[in-house]
Amino acid sequence: MDIKKEIQNYLSTFSSYQSEFHQAVHEVAQDLIQNDLIATENDLLRFKRLIEPDRVIRFKVEWMDDNNQIQLNRAWRVQFNNLMGPYKGGLRFHPSVDESILKFLGFEQIFKNALTGLPMGGAKGGSDFNPKGKSEGEIMRFCQAFIEELQRYIGKDRDIPAGDIGVGTREIGYMYGHYLKLSQQYTGSMTGKHPNFGGSCGREEATGYGCAFILKEFIEDNNDSLENKTALLSGAGNVALYAAEKLIKFGVKVLTVSDSDGYLYFEEGMSQKQLDEIMKLKFENRARLSEYKNATEYIAGKKTWEQKADIVMPCATQNELNKDEVDNLLASTQYIVEGANMPLTAEAIQKVEESEVYYIPSKAANAGGVAVSGIERTQNSSYKYLSKSEVENRLKDIMQNIYSHCRQYSTDQYSLKSGANIYSYQKIIKTMKSLRG
Ligand code: GLU
Repeated sequence: MDIKKEIQNYLSTFSSYQSEFHQAVHEVAQDLIQNDLIATENDLLRFKRLIEPDRVIRFKVEWMDDNNQIQLNRAWRVQFNNLMGPYKGGLRFHPSVDESILKFLGFEQIFKNALTGLPMGGAKGGSDFNPKGKSEGEIMRFCQAFIEELQRYIGKDRDIPAGDIGVGTREIGYMYGHYLKLSQQYTGSMTGKHPNFGGSCGREEATGYGCAFILKEFIEDNNDSLENKTALLSGAGNVALYAAEKLIKFGVKVLTVSDSDGYLYFEEGMSQKQLDEIMKLKFENRARLSEYKNATEYIAGKKTWEQKADIVMPCATQNELNKDEVDNLLASTQYIVEGANMPLTAEAIQKVEESEVYYIPSKAANAGGVAVSGIERTQNSSYKYLSKSEVENRLKDIMQNIYSHCRQYSTDQYSLKSGANIYSYQKIIKTMKSLRG
């Protein structure tokens, strides 16, 4: 039996044209097949059961723009599975969002959440709504219209959405505010809330900090240190900017951050002061990086990957780093850490795994965000709130555990990918057997 082909046939039959979803499934399947975890007909059936979401909810969102025109968007919630705990995963608002993207994200979320060791199943949702250029009022009305539909399917022990690309504390605030009105219950059924209304300290920073913590573990395990290493980061959202903050604290020279129009280059490494200014520009003014004038250079229309550094940390979006770009980087790079979800194409991952560059896949590297979401849930249920340093210590512990599990289960000295997939898969499958046979 050609298992890879069987999986491909299954995907082509039941999820045709969902290329990102196929990519995410094959990436996992490859490690499982190589390690005899999908070897028999029964294993294959189990894998098919896992790649089939419990349900995909699709709904329309009608909202009023500033010109009193009705606008129409499509939206989804993919409740992938709740074997390990309530459905948990973010919401993405971006024009590229479709069922394929949300199924790939939801599928990966099951594994990522299992890695955290916290009781959370996997889900993802969002809309093809484009927040770029929208007024405050339009964002608010869209969020309210969106949650008016989604509220039927979520709840503190059922499904707990959070943020992702295009959904930050502001959007969570508008959605949660409207949800409170509709449900009349202060249950904390969303995470990523501002600490003023039940959010956890340190949630906004968690994904970026987590990336830096797991990298530090890996480097120190290799008897090396982060001090004076150089790093290329892409993105300028909370993953990239908070990863930059921690890396700077660890003595790393952060050379770049980017948005979809170009990137900022800092010859000597970004200073904390420059980072503060960029955070203000992005989080408060919601401006483009091209408006920032205190970098060595702003390079328009180009990607970060034309530079060289010891550490490469893609923190923007899926498939942002391809095979040719990776090829150019490999000779000068020591560590590749995926801050975004699936930022390397399948061919790029293959190149990395054939090389002697250390690699931390996104399921492990960016699990810190959802881990602190899990901690936010616990705080909401117990009405006992942790300080920022308590949250950070817990996050550090979780990232250390993820690192050691991935290390222990990896079949490759340089890459943690097989370890992340094998460890979490075995945990999920064991649970599936106990609960559903
Ligand atoms: N969107 C984030 C992720 O990709 C966070 C999800 C959450 O906090 O539920 O893991």
